[in-house]
Amino acid sequence: MDKNKIKAAIRNVPDFPKPGIQFKDITTLLLDHGAFSESMDVFCEEFNNSEIDIIVGIESRGFIFGAPLALRLGHPFAIARKPGKLPAQTVAVEYELEYGTDRIEIHKDAIRTGNKILIIDDLIATGGTARAVGELVEKCGGEIAGYAFLINLAALNGLDQLAPHPVFSVIEV
Ligand code: AMP
Repeated sequence: MDKNKIKAAIRNVPDFPKPGIQFKDITTLLLDHGAFSESMDVFCEEFNNSEIDIIVGIESRGFIFGAPLALRLGHPFAIARKPGKLPAQTVAVEYELEYGTDRIEIHKDAIRTGNKILIIDDLIATGGTARAVGELVEKCGGEIAGYAFLINLAALNGLDQLAPHPVFSVIEV
């Protein structure tokens, strides 16, 4: 696996969406078939023999990596979405942002008691979003099998938010 190839395919966009933030733009990786495919190979190799019942992707870029991983590993795929997007009965969790709060939802019937859940997103920064989805999973009676990210922004120590659960990231920057 050539992780440098994956790193090189991610575009850094300074000061987006606001000054001081360096945005990790994965659209360039998606346009590079070799790098996208290699990213999926790394995820598959990591979770091939893991005890997982359902993969939950976080809106929106978690869907891009979560759906093909679920298909390749033969697992069902569920989605955690921003408020008001899911049409059937939902369970919700509110979480803190730098300013104010946000909310994330999942369909109530997506997870059954005792299901082992792998949560996936493109990137972990502070860890707040992923932790909220973990709470959502537990609220539905699921067990967190682990978290998976393409990119870990290591300087922000987001992984601390997810302890004691296992966390895998394809690359750290
Ligand atoms: P956080 O809750 O702080 O871990 O933020 C994670 C969520 O915000 C993920 O869904 C990411 O896609 C997005 N995100 C946060 N920071 C960045 C960044 N620097 N570049 C790209 N996406 C980001």
